[in-house]
Amino acid sequence: MSSPANPASNKPATPAKATAPEAAKTSNFLRQIIEADLEKGTYAQRQWAGSPGDAAHHAAGPRDIAKIRTRFPPEPNGYLHIGHAKSICINFGLARDYGGVCHLRFDDTNPEKEDIEYVNSIIDAIKWLGFDWNGNKDAEPYQASDYFGFMYRAAEYLIEAGHAYVDEQTVEQIRINRGDFNKPGVDSPFRQRTPAQNLARLREMRDGQHEDGAMVLRAKIAMDSPNINLRDPAIYRIRRATHHNTGDTWCIYPMYTFAHPIEDALEQITHSLCTLEFEDQRPFYDWLLDRLCETAKLPDGRVAGGLLATPHPRQYEFARLNLTYVITSKRKLAQLVYDHKVSGWDDPRMPTIVGLRRRGYTPESLQLFAERIGVTKSDSWIDYSTLEGCLRETLDGSAPRAMAVLDPIKLSIENWDELMASHESGGHSAAGFLDACSAPVHPHLPELGRRNFKIGKEVWIDRSDYEETPPKGFFRLFPPSTDANGEAVPGSKVRLKYGHVIECLGAIKNEAGHVISIRTKVIPDTKSGTPGSDAVKVRGVITWVAVADGIPAEVRLYDRLFLEAQPDAGGKDFIEGLNPNSLKVIQAIVEPSLANAKADDKFQFERHGYFVADRVDHVQGTKPVFNLAVGLKDSWGK
Ligand code: ATP
Ligand code: MG
Repeated sequence: MSSPANPASNKPATPAKATAPEAAKTSNFLRQIIEADLEKGTYAQRQWAGSPGDAAHHAAGPRDIAKIRTRFPPEPNGYLHIGHAKSICINFGLARDYGGVCHLRFDDTNPEKEDIEYVNSIIDAIKWLGFDWNGNKDAEPYQASDYFGFMYRAAEYLIEAGHAYVDEQTVEQIRINRGDFNKPGVDSPFRQRTPAQNLARLREMRDGQHEDGAMVLRAKIAMDSPNINLRDPAIYRIRRATHHNTGDTWCIYPMYTFAHPIEDALEQITHSLCTLEFEDQRPFYDWLLDRLCETAKLPDGRVAGGLLATPHPRQYEFARLNLTYVITSKRKLAQLVYDHKVSGWDDPRMPTIVGLRRRGYTPESLQLFAERIGVTKSDSWIDYSTLEGCLRETLDGSAPRAMAVLDPIKLSIENWDELMASHESGGHSAAGFLDACSAPVHPHLPELGRRNFKIGKEVWIDRSDYEETPPKGFFRLFPPSTDANGEAVPGSKVRLKYGHVIECLGAIKNEAGHVISIRTKVIPDTKSGTPGSDAVKVRGVITWVAVADGIPAEVRLYDRLFLEAQPDAGGKDFIEGLNPNSLKVIQAIVEPSLANAKADDKFQFERHGYFVADRVDHVQGTKPVFNLAVGLKDSWGK
């Protein structure tokens, strides 16, 4: 992290503007919980001192103007993925909708795994998705490691109040003595030590007098609890590791289950939303915060406690996102990167936010996706097509249109020069006579203007638009033939979209018998947009780009990264399920308006799908590179 966030430097929070939840937003159990809390005023009396802190700190602050506080607490050990996008939209979205504040907190209590590269990428991803945090546009994110001091103090207090002890059993003994679902745990021989003995031991741990792993601090709850998470969970361990924020200040680090509730409470979080796998941890979450909020009479007669402000945060669990054909585990995604199965975290096939962005996904499309999949309390799988549908929907209304020929074959119009010379506007060139054509940038947004391009005696069309022996229902190009009765059947007539109607005369083949170009003639007076142009009826319309002004472009056709719908289900080796054909790089010809395309610009290539100018490799005007974002819903122009 560039500069360690100093909580005290955070300016007082201004809550996101309170907007009433839009009618379009479907209610869900989290909204109901929040609405009920607002109605009851559960958190109405809370104070907020402008920065995270203990009970005394907040007691000195004013009433919190944020109606609720949520948080998004990533561990900076990888790039965020589509599952995190769901969590971000939930946490930031609820805060926004209910006049609250969402905190961004780096959960960096594990000293070994964090990296500044991940920290920066997480910040970028959240901003790109359209959110800011901590109630202030320029606020530093919070970081859990800033709370190590308080966590240690809480640990000493728990010992003094008789709620924690230092256990010197081996890891193996602790595991065995924990019992299992059928067998209650067995008390540690160290469980009955006095607070004074435990305190001395903890301080020795802190001062580096014991080896890593020699002992742990455990909460003292109940070894026979039906919930195994309550059988005296470990809360502090010895770990000699340099932390990116606190350096070598500590050689003991809190366990996640101990740290997380405390982080929430110091930040005055009201609703701590997490995924279902933490449900079993909720009793400990409440136990710990109850102990740290209450005041207690210590064995030595002193009254102490009240460390954290009340009412303390509550944890609620929602279903994590499972998306078919997609892996949402940072560890497994890292493996794809390090094993070079993909080009990097931002490979357009990756479900990371940087990958999705490079693929052409927009913040709106991911927000729509989060809204559409909703929030539930039971795990399920969302079909990948739901995600693609959201992208298609958001791009359809805005993406400029363009023509592109992905598998080019030349088509020549043999009577072009003789017929056109007498007729229409345009101009002569080395390529012969060129006629000017135009098309709307977007069919429903006339204000975006028109695109201009030329048509001449040679154009590129897609190879699949010609069939020597057309299957039934094929209305594009096919040559003249003779039918079963020996009658001559003329070649098909099709319209070159935004251009003229042509009639197919046949094809030229090479020695191997492969079609290398298509022969046609133009039908006079059929140019789109001129009077009487639709007198000749055609059933097929094809897209094209003139040889004279088409631009060569690299196009990357992406497909699903995995062939299996649940690539890592049941401990499967997900590497085996990789789709060997998930990337196909082709040389296409695109219309001249795309010379102006800038990186990240999105287009609908007519009949083909939505494409984005690659944000890494595309160079405007000189090296066009387009990625397939998502295909069109309907196959077009059959
Ligand atoms: P991973 O398993 O990929 O490493 P994580 O849960 O360990 O993910 P964190 O950085 O701890 O990653 O997650 C930050 C937040 O994102 C947590 O609140 C977590 O619950 C949430 N989150 C992670 N994955 C998903 C998912 N698939 N669906 C919804 N929320 C998720
Ligand atoms: Mg995690």
